[in-house]
Amino acid sequence: MRVPLLDLKPQYQSLKQELDEAIIKVAESQYFILGPEVESMEKDFCNYLNCKHALGVSSGTDALLLALMAIGIQPGDEVIVPTFSFFATAGVVSRLNATPVVVDIDPVTFNIDARELERKITNKTRAVIPVHLYGQSCEMEKIVEVAKANKIKIIEDAAQAIGVQYKDGKFAGTIGDAGCFSFFPSKNLGGYGDGGLVVTNDDELAQRLKIMRVHGAEPKYYHKVIGGNFRLDAIQAAVLKIKLPHLDNWSKKRRENAEAYNKFFIGSGLAEQTGKISFDSKNKVLLPKPVFQSDSIKNYHIYNQYIIRVEDRDKLRGYLTKNEIGTEIYYPVPFHLQECFSNLNYKPGDFPLAERAADTCLALPIYPELSKDQIEFVVSKINEFLKN
Ligand SMILES: *Cc1c(COP(=O)(O)O)cnc(C)c1O
Repeated sequence: MRVPLLDLKPQYQSLKQELDEAIIKVAESQYFILGPEVESMEKDFCNYLNCKHALGVSSGTDALLLALMAIGIQPGDEVIVPTFSFFATAGVVSRLNATPVVVDIDPVTFNIDARELERKITNKTRAVIPVHLYGQSCEMEKIVEVAKANKIKIIEDAAQAIGVQYKDGKFAGTIGDAGCFSFFPSKNLGGYGDGGLVVTNDDELAQRLKIMRVHGAEPKYYHKVIGGNFRLDAIQAAVLKIKLPHLDNWSKKRRENAEAYNKFFIGSGLAEQTGKISFDSKNKVLLPKPVFQSDSIKNYHIYNQYIIRVEDRDKLRGYLTKNEIGTEIYYPVPFHLQECFSNLNYKPGDFPLAERAADTCLALPIYPELSKDQIEFVVSKINEFLKN
């Protein structure tokens, strides 16, 4: 049985007619960048996320870069980031000649350790970028408290967390000063190319974001500030508008798949329960656990990734590849050990929890259309490997 890490074709087939028509409509309009299609999409996202402003932008990376530019990050400023995330989270800080200051993660959620964050604040700290990794919200209550007390901005990296709700039902990305989303095709809500979104409830910040999205021009060809080309294409907006109403259902299916994995792993004797953080003979596989789970909130975890941890990760991965099961390592090297950040002078051992996660984590297929048979097959192959 072949089990790819991700297969986007069934989703396309299920919406093919609508999507094809919408794309052709854009071609017929010959209106390709920003414009009415993007404005209408932005309204839909404001309604869905229950926020005041949403701006379509060119990618998730550009959403982060634009947000940092709009809050006025300057050379020499410090911006705190978790050391374990996709590269863009720290890359955008360095691109503004500011310094990414990294902190370790919580071993259960893989998200930034909110207490560590507090300890890293200096008089140069201007902002923090909490990343809602794999589709689960960070501990925003504590992060907001620390940020308020120290007068620093919060730019949420919600690229993997569109539709995630935090404790009080607020959506990830709408809790800090600005929230950044990605529509990269493999995200839970993917476009047909690069795309992203910045959201905020701050009118003034929204205005700056809007101007800086088009090279800082206001009006056209008059520049008081320097921005960039961070515009979204109309085709992406048209596709995303059609997909957005299905997002919650897709997230529900991902959650059901995660529950099926947990059940099969526990049933096969490879794990005792979810959320364990150390290996022993009864827990050869460590399973993810949603921490802010509550009955009143539907979307506490949207499983952009379902991540297990195993000691012999690379060998297991090789075995699964041989058996036509797709997996991925998100992410093999934390920021503090990346060559491009060697000037920051970190060394191995500085952030042990992130390093341990990088050495043991493995993403299994979790996309909504995956069948229970495929999930059972993946677990049986992992069992076969680990029992030998
Ligand atoms: C995907 C991703 C990004 C970047 O998004 P792009 O649209 O690919 O530029 C940023 N941060 C995280 C955590 C991501 O997963």
